[in-house]
Amino acid sequence: MSERPVDVLVAGGGAVGAALALALARERFDVVLVDGRAPAAFDIADVDLRVFAVSPASAALLTRLGAWDRVAALRVSPYRRMRVWEQGAADELSFDAALVGAPQLGHIVEERALRAGLWAALDAGAGVRRVCPARVVRCEPGSSDSRVELDDGSRWRARLVVAADGAQSPLREAARLGLDIMPYGERAVVAHVRTERPHEATAWQRFTPAGPLALLPLVDGRVSVVWSLRDARATSMLALDDAAFVDAITDASGARLGRVQATSPRAAFPLRMQLARHYAASRLALVGDAAHTVHPLAGQGLNLGLLDAAALSEVLAAAAAAREDLGAPAVLARYERWRRGEVARAAHAFGLLDGLFRSDFGPLPLLRRAGMGLVQRIGPLKREFALHASGFAGRVPVLARRLS
Ligand SMILES: Cc1cc2nc3c(=O)[nH]c(=O)nc-3n(C[C@H](O)[C@H](O)[C@H](O)COP(=O)(O)OP(=O)(O)OC[C@H]3O[C@@H](n4cnc5c(N)ncnc54)[C@H](O)[C@@H]3O)c2cc1C
Repeated sequence: MSERPVDVLVAGGGAVGAALALALARERFDVVLVDGRAPAAFDIADVDLRVFAVSPASAALLTRLGAWDRVAALRVSPYRRMRVWEQGAADELSFDAALVGAPQLGHIVEERALRAGLWAALDAGAGVRRVCPARVVRCEPGSSDSRVELDDGSRWRARLVVAADGAQSPLREAARLGLDIMPYGERAVVAHVRTERPHEATAWQRFTPAGPLALLPLVDGRVSVVWSLRDARATSMLALDDAAFVDAITDASGARLGRVQATSPRAAFPLRMQLARHYAASRLALVGDAAHTVHPLAGQGLNLGLLDAAALSEVLAAAAAAREDLGAPAVLARYERWRRGEVARAAHAFGLLDGLFRSDFGPLPLLRRAGMGLVQRIGPLKREFALHASGFAGRVPVLARRLS
């Protein structure tokens, strides 16, 4: 079979790869998107256990890519407030959407809805060729392009290959880009539960000695539980019967929403911090979980990946305008400089927060309570936190800036 030329081949059609393909097509690049599995159909009767807190910057990006309205038409749940507190402490941190000048602090979105909305935008004439289901089985960089072979037998010559192929990224491994791994020894136990009192369109987070517990508002009135627990504790939570599990969540949440009354089936995701040592190699760039995974306590993993996608498409558009080679080391180094430091700082901060709230060593409990009280009382500091969470802090890619 002959080799087909293309500007950019994106391997991985998860939320990050699909968003990148749309962003690149918008810049008139010839793009092919490859994924090993077709997106699952969205079923209105079934609420996906995997949900994300999508930041306002990510929503702005998805709007500009023509995907947000499609996702919102399926199902999203806006949250206007956030309440963060520690078991046994009086002080509480509260953030309101007004603090960042937006109607909401973010949206809780099911993974299936996000993927389906993005793929619907791809279907609506975005000009992206899709090869799905198919997996990349070989990728050989050359002086002017990379030769890529898929398991459907097709062959491609791409000026740049982007690995958006998830945390286990086969392309990152094959390119030997190096990976720093910090296992947390934790798993996130997730379930959707019904509570006695309404969630008030608020994202609730309680730091318990066992680990951070998030209660995220769903549009059907339930809340999505994400509880990061040491492995052994996660195993025992999964083994509880439903009655004992809802009691455990009532307890761990301090009955903030009253009694937890019913639960969906549960699942658990292993947690570890992974940071690729380089985001680029010869004619290859990494985005999303292929480049980094972070602790979910701040709900930022996907948001960071979407910002990678926006930043990379901006760097490539500027390179094309300057008639540079898309796969040139100097071009890819600009992308790596932009994103790697920012993501690493965020990843370490989330890991540190998790450790800080699990420890009762010496003066730590006092210090963190004082810190929480300070952030709550000092307006500009609190606004800075909220801006970071919304994605509008630091160097924000043009595609993800506030919508006017
Ligand atoms: C419990 C938990 C809660 C979380 N909550 C949040 C949150 O609230 N907010 C947030 O922003 N983030 C959150 N995250 C993080 C978020 O889930 C991930 O960062 C995000 O899903 C990564 O998306 P991705 O597109 O990079 O990778 P993936 O979604 O893993 O997609 C990778 C794709 O690549 C494909 N693929 C793999 N290999 C190949 C190959 N060889 N060829 C072709 N295709 C291939 C796969 O089929 C897959 O479709 C959470 C994570 C966990 C574990």
